[in-house]
Amino acid sequence: MQSEDLVGKARKIYKDIPIDPSSLETYVKLMQLQEDLQKAFEGKYSNVDVESINSTLREGKPAFLAVNLDLDEEELGEAMLKITELLKSELPDLTGSLEKLEEAWKSRKLSLVDLGNSLLAGNVDYAHRKAEELGVDHEVLEAVSAWVMQVLFQALASQLSGKLDFTTWSLGRCPVCGGSTRLEFIEPDGSARLKCQFCGTEWGFPTDKCPYCGNERGEAVTSIPVERDGRFVLNVCHVCGRYWKVVDERVAGQEIPRRLYDLWTFKLDLIASGEKLPPAGQSE
Ligand SMILES: [Zn+2]
Ligand SMILES: [Zn+2]
Repeated sequence: MQSEDLVGKARKIYKDIPIDPSSLETYVKLMQLQEDLQKAFEGKYSNVDVESINSTLREGKPAFLAVNLDLDEEELGEAMLKITELLKSELPDLTGSLEKLEEAWKSRKLSLVDLGNSLLAGNVDYAHRKAEELGVDHEVLEAVSAWVMQVLFQALASQLSGKLDFTTWSLGRCPVCGGSTRLEFIEPDGSARLKCQFCGTEWGFPTDKCPYCGNERGEAVTSIPVERDGRFVLNVCHVCGRYWKVVDERVAGQEIPRRLYDLWTFKLDLIASGEKLPPAGQSE
């Protein structure tokens, strides 16, 4: 089964990730659940107008602006309840907050459509106010609603991938959801692609070009091989000061699903933020 694959494959890389294995497993189970939930949303986006989306892309705007996302309270709520059910069983400490969210949604005190629209509009105040009103930690509300919206965007991205023309897209931001990403991979043939950490879209992007500021001067980017074998590289841009992570599939192979690359390279985030590395694959 495909869904068992993700956890099974993830276990092979736990040793590379400096997070304790039980937290890792919870996170991967959540990713797996999102992948399963995604299928219920794909039908919504199977008949998109490819031509109008391509013209939106040519204007430098992300695809979702040309799609009717058709946010539906029941569909989003069902997805949220599946996610909170998993989290309650994995993280008992959060049960109180998660139950409050479930009850608020069932009694219509919480609208996931309103929450989703506020996230899309970049309005973080809405979630803050809502969390206060419901008496839940705003981080829990924000995380749960982002995971629900991520399911929707992953469904959209999976329906659009292969249909759209990304050749006119020269930005480091995702052509589907508009999000920024710090994840690149090099395919076995040597071509570089960025991968959106939110919706999973992949698009071609020159190696050594900073996905944040577009700086293309090779000498203004420092590439730091993180392991002796060179499967992961940390790139730092000296123009904008940001970093991004590269998985070189010519070294790393293609056995590990790309969905896991962000997690697989978590060590690079720690190095970039200057934190001391705990021993890989061990709890504190
Ligand atoms: Zn995206
Ligand atoms: Zn830059």
